Amino acid sequence: MRLACLLVFLVCAAAQQQKLAEPPPPGPDKMALRQQISDLKIKSFEIQQQVELLEKQIKDIEEADANKLAASQAISKTAPARARCGGHTKDGKRCTRMADSGSRFCWQHKVGR
Ligand SMILES: [Zn+2]
Repeated sequence: MRLACLLVFLVCAAAQQQKLAEPPPPGPDKMALRQQISDLKIKSFEIQQQVELLEKQIKDIEEADANKLAASQAISKTAPARARCGGHTKDGKRCTRMADSGSRFCWQHKVGR
């Protein structure tokens, strides 16, 4: 029994001595690593927010473009593009004027029709 106690004591003493003899391991310690991790987490959060912001901006631009396109399509539907006059000149050539809106003829050829 006493021998066992002595052995434990010796082993403990040896371990203690080894610990004291060993210099602390170089490089970052646990606290520094935790600090780095938390810093990186904050950075990644900020980057994610930037990505979300940029994605939102793109979405807004795309929505604005879609609205513009829809508006231009609506305009072209409600107001048909003015076509060339369907009348003919005295020489029998096709009139080069643009037809009045809502009419197939220009102001000149509309007269008398
Ligand atoms: Zn005409």
